[in-house]
Amino acid sequence: MSDIALHAGLVGQPGSREQLNTPVLVVDRAVLEANIATMAAFAAAKGLKLRPHAKTHKSANIARLQLAAGAVGLCCAKIGEAEALAAQGVSIGLLITSPVVSAPAIARLVALNLTTEGLKVVVDHPDNVAALGAAASASGKPLEVLIDLDPGIHRTGVASPQAAVALLEAIRGQAGLSYAGLQCYCGVQQHIEAFDVRKTALEDRGAYIREVIDALTAAGGAPAIISGSGTGSHRIDAELGLFTEFQVGSYVFMDDQYLACDLAGEGTNASPYQRSLFIDARVVSANSPGMVTVDAGFKAMSTDADPPQVVAGAPEGSRYFFMGDEHGALVPSSGSPPPLGARVTLAAPHCDPTVNLYDAYHVVEGDTLVAIWPVTARGRSR
Ligand code: PLP
Ligand code: MN
Repeated sequence: MSDIALHAGLVGQPGSREQLNTPVLVVDRAVLEANIATMAAFAAAKGLKLRPHAKTHKSANIARLQLAAGAVGLCCAKIGEAEALAAQGVSIGLLITSPVVSAPAIARLVALNLTTEGLKVVVDHPDNVAALGAAASASGKPLEVLIDLDPGIHRTGVASPQAAVALLEAIRGQAGLSYAGLQCYCGVQQHIEAFDVRKTALEDRGAYIREVIDALTAAGGAPAIISGSGTGSHRIDAELGLFTEFQVGSYVFMDDQYLACDLAGEGTNASPYQRSLFIDARVVSANSPGMVTVDAGFKAMSTDADPPQVVAGAPEGSRYFFMGDEHGALVPSSGSPPPLGARVTLAAPHCDPTVNLYDAYHVVEGDTLVAIWPVTARGRSR
């Protein structure tokens, strides 16, 4: 990987963060590891399994840290993400959390099933169950499936307890499929900032999920795995006691939307997880009074969230404004803007789509570059 080759000589050298080409995706190793350890300890204390979502980091290195901390496997958004992780040896207990429907993708899915252990995929439609059943039968190895339940946002999942039971019957009719359980990810509720409001919303969804579990159980299909939850809901979900395992993702990095949430009901200042993902940029033009231009724009970070916070390298209270594909403006509220060539650290806005813009993480301890990790599944969204 060219980025890695470019910086290989700098690994481990004090001060080398300063020498990196910008814009560059930076991860703080100590914070990342603390976030992973905190979630692992929380899940262990609650008797819950963790199958963290790799859609956030797309990294075999980070997946290995999560597995070393006790995770039972990794979730993947798409078959391509699972293939990329498996190719790097992260091949046990992968759960693909969106339906795999097209014929070529199903062919890849059953091929991946042959070379991995415990691969699972969600289903939400009888036609897809029939297609997966035929392909898995022909491959000679049963494929594990979970029924995906729509929590009410109409993205994916079956839309009623009756539809869940009908899908269970369809799965049972396929010798090539093995029924492994239920998935329900309450995406909309994750980012409700106030703890009590989020808790009430999740209790409401929990009652619905319970109804579906009861219907499946009454039909003789008590789900062995009940997978769900996210960074925003995991503290509350642990108390609701519905899930057997959590598919949390963003906690490894955190981002503004999650830092704005009171995750544990103790105030936002008491977040159990801290920000570990940053973008280092540089001032590349300084000709206008009261502002400078940095080399990070739309191509350097996600744009669905608010513009990034400026966390270092500029006077406190400096603000960032997008200035197109390649550039951003840095405007201090007081004091002088940083000079030409200065390094400025931005907080990564929405973490998942930001990561997908980079070939590699530059892993730092303070200002020392300690490792370069490829974004293993970058772009593997099909
Ligand atoms: N599961 C599914 C299906 C998701 O779509 C996501 C994120 O969007 C996650 C888990 C991870 O959730 P979070 O990033 O909220 O921890
Ligand atoms: Mn996200």
